[in-house]
Amino acid sequence: MSIASYLSEDIGTSVDFETFRDAFRDKMHKAFTMRGDFDKVSTQRGIPPFMMREIQSVTPLSVFIPEEYGGRGGHVHECQAILAAASYESLALSLTLGINGALFLQPLTKYGNEAIKGAIFERFVEEKNLGGLMITEPDYGTDALNMQTSYTQAEDGTYHLQGTKHWAGLTGWADFFLVAARRQGANGDLGRDIDFFVADMNRPDQMIEVEEFYENLGLYMIPYGRNHVDIKVPEAHRLQPESTGIKMMLDILHRSRIEFPGMGMGFLQRILDEALEHCRERFVGGKPLIKYDQVRRRLAHLQAAYTACSAMCLHTSEHASTDNNLAGEALSANAIKTVVTDLMQNAAQSLLQLTGGTGYRLDHVAGRSVVDSRPFQIFEGSNDVLYQQISESILKSMRSVKEKNLHTFLSDYEMTHRAADYFEDTLDFEVDLSLPQRKLVELGRILGRVVSMELTIELGDRGFRSDLISNCLQVFQKDVDSRVTAYRNHELTDVVEDYVEGSAWFDYVKV
Ligand SMILES: Cc1cc2nc3c(=O)[nH]c(=O)nc-3n(C[C@H](O)[C@H](O)[C@H](O)COP(=O)(O)OP(=O)(O)OC[C@H]3O[C@@H](n4cnc5c(N)ncnc54)[C@H](O)[C@@H]3O)c2cc1C
Repeated sequence: MSIASYLSEDIGTSVDFETFRDAFRDKMHKAFTMRGDFDKVSTQRGIPPFMMREIQSVTPLSVFIPEEYGGRGGHVHECQAILAAASYESLALSLTLGINGALFLQPLTKYGNEAIKGAIFERFVEEKNLGGLMITEPDYGTDALNMQTSYTQAEDGTYHLQGTKHWAGLTGWADFFLVAARRQGANGDLGRDIDFFVADMNRPDQMIEVEEFYENLGLYMIPYGRNHVDIKVPEAHRLQPESTGIKMMLDILHRSRIEFPGMGMGFLQRILDEALEHCRERFVGGKPLIKYDQVRRRLAHLQAAYTACSAMCLHTSEHASTDNNLAGEALSANAIKTVVTDLMQNAAQSLLQLTGGTGYRLDHVAGRSVVDSRPFQIFEGSNDVLYQQISESILKSMRSVKEKNLHTFLSDYEMTHRAADYFEDTLDFEVDLSLPQRKLVELGRILGRVVSMELTIELGDRGFRSDLISNCLQVFQKDVDSRVTAYRNHELTDVVEDYVEGSAWFDYVKV
């Protein structure tokens, strides 16, 4: 079949959502399953332009754009559904849409100056432009608040930004970037607050120079690299925070984190479908893999991930509107981001185990999924750090109500009150309110999973299949139980930094 035979007319953004999603799904499926030049797309860097054109012909990003600017209105359930449809075919493509939506279009919708919004949204709808976000710097990733990119303002209002940014998704490819920077005072010192500026790569003054492209381990479709920022942008390009810039940044990042399940959803469903199909078809020792008990256990866990992620999509759809300020929603955003990204990575590893040697290829969905899903545990807040923050936020609430018993507290807490019923014994203990960091991280993992169970119970109440709900709750309950056992074990092994002397096994061999 030739490429031209499946190119079709653009569909408008005003059709009903199911028609829109089906058209997008269809384009995605054709683009990613056509034979010929396309089947190796996952092992090549970038994306063939005609493929991007084809996917963009449906204007999937219109779901993130307000109706008055020609979009579908920014309804979160539509955004989640489009991310999910994309990630069934390609996690990298879904992340590309997610970057555009959560890290550029939603911040612009909420905080952009009216004077610039119309023209930018028009370029996304009409010219299929792309946007990204630059926060991270080589010396400041997790420690983003200490970033060194600075800005000053000239008398005519123009802002001058200078610094180095790296790892921004769509480096060298996006037409727009939001760039984070700190104000430089007259004495050269940088202010504590963070501001964001829209830079238009089509304007020479605003063009950010790529110094180096990185050989990213996975997500080949998305270019990453190091950028030299020395740009001048008009006054109207600064985002307008409601209070401080840091609160605006938290609102943006929490909304982005809470929207991860959209990307997880299609990805996890694809892994589940691939695993079921493989295990039915692959015969080992005269019977299909699916007849083996350990295999069934793995499949049940993949299915639990599918169900939990569905529950998160439901929650996100009803809570992440740009009308809500999510700056104070650290707990739900961090719990959802950490747990769904762990589920994604674990599911990919499990599929690779089940597919054996066949799966250990970059152009096989199992191998590719392992490398593509791994950075989700790192970007937008490293999971280790977010798990710690989940615990700190719960411990702070416990202190404020003077409650030390974890189960008593969680039974009364909105995000956990029904899930707590599953842990009447397991979580019935007093928490030390000054825990070492590793224990905070372990406790955060437990709490994140209890929150996920709460969302799953809610999904069940809405009418989702009860067999999937009860399987999912069982899997999570067992997981939490074993994590609590580890958490309550007080051994704190420390690293021996100077370990080399006396530690060569060869010296102790008796021959
Ligand atoms: C594929 C990919 C896409 C990305 N996309 C973007 C993007 O679009 N825009 C953007 O601005 N940035 C992006 N990033 C950057 C990403 O947000 C940073 O890599 C991340 O914030 C971690 O920062 P770092 O790499 O400097 O690591 P570091 O800050 O050095 O942290 C490395 C590790 O150290 C440990 N650690 C750090 N701090 C603590 C602590 N307080 N306690 C205990 N352990 C700690 C954690 O294990 C952490 O994972 C992306 C990165 C990747 C890999």
